[in-house]
Amino acid sequence: MRRLIRFIRNLALLLIAAIVILAGVLVFNVVKHGSRQIQVAAIPRVAIDAQAVAARLSEAIRFRTISSHEKPDQHAEALRGMQAHIEKSFPAFHAAAKREIVGQYSLLYTWEGSDHKMPPIALLAHQDVVPVAPGTEKDWQQPPFDGVIADGFIWGRGSWDDKGNLYSMLEAAETMTKGGFRPKRTIYFAFGHDEETAGTAGAKAIAALLASRGVRLDFVVDEGLLITEGMIKGLDKSAALIGVAEKGYASLVLSAQATPGHSSMPPRDTAIGMLSAALARLEDHRLPMHIRGTVAEMFDTLAPEMNGFNRVVLSNLWLFKPLLLREFEKNGPSEATIRTTTALTIFHAATRTTCCPATPKPPSTSA
Ligand SMILES: [Zn+2]
Repeated sequence: MRRLIRFIRNLALLLIAAIVILAGVLVFNVVKHGSRQIQVAAIPRVAIDAQAVAARLSEAIRFRTISSHEKPDQHAEALRGMQAHIEKSFPAFHAAAKREIVGQYSLLYTWEGSDHKMPPIALLAHQDVVPVAPGTEKDWQQPPFDGVIADGFIWGRGSWDDKGNLYSMLEAAETMTKGGFRPKRTIYFAFGHDEETAGTAGAKAIAALLASRGVRLDFVVDEGLLITEGMIKGLDKSAALIGVAEKGYASLVLSAQATPGHSSMPPRDTAIGMLSAALARLEDHRLPMHIRGTVAEMFDTLAPEMNGFNRVVLSNLWLFKPLLLREFEKNGPSEATIRTTTALTIFHAATRTTCCPATPKPPSTSA
């Protein structure tokens, strides 16, 4: 009996020691993980006419510059209209920079620098927007193309993606030009018109044009992510998410064929059944999750800024990684940061419920 008590006591002591050591390691990692933020004094605010700036973006939203794969010219008038609006809105910048039209509707501005030895840079934005899905108009809090200014926001398609960027850059350039500023290095402003449909006529043509002129850019700044406020669990501060790359993708077509026949006497295996089994397996066997590369760096940077238990978790991924991955797996946007995602998007099958395909070839099912 006494032996048993001693054994239990020793076991309890061992357990306590293990907990203390573990807690020590967790705390050590939290403390070791200091903030990476560089303290920089804020520059004085530039006086701007906020109402006029907002009004210009609001007007820009009213041009329905929707890009389309099928009919690239269908919104030519809207693009031309917005370009005229840009020209009228930023006269000082237009006097200082050279403007070129590339690929019919894209804009390339060259703001010549004073030091030609310095490599140039390019600031990018796009003029086009995506269409509004038919039937969803009533779901909009404000109409998509009215440019309503209400509740401290400018509402509408493109207010954020990406006319907001485009106009902000030009507002800055206009203000700076008026103040007598001339850049040291040459700055290109490249504004494509078909970014939402792959950018082959706009951005690609601009890149080819610059390459043909032997231009080598030092860096490019394109539209990116948000400055989030309260979007990241456990982070009270705002966080600027910087997109340093874009995920690639591959589209695969799966197809199955089976013996055609009347649905009253179906074959044992139907094409739909076989393909459905394959697709269900794809959904059930997702690609592995990882925390590496830029995502690992993001967690590393965020960890010391977190509060409470979240800070302990992010500072001790050696222990909590499975917990974090499970949490991230729960919703689409966060899941996309930790794995290659799989999405089943289009499904074609037979068009009749009973018999005989309309065409003589056997029915095929693809997804
Ligand atoms: Zn965009």
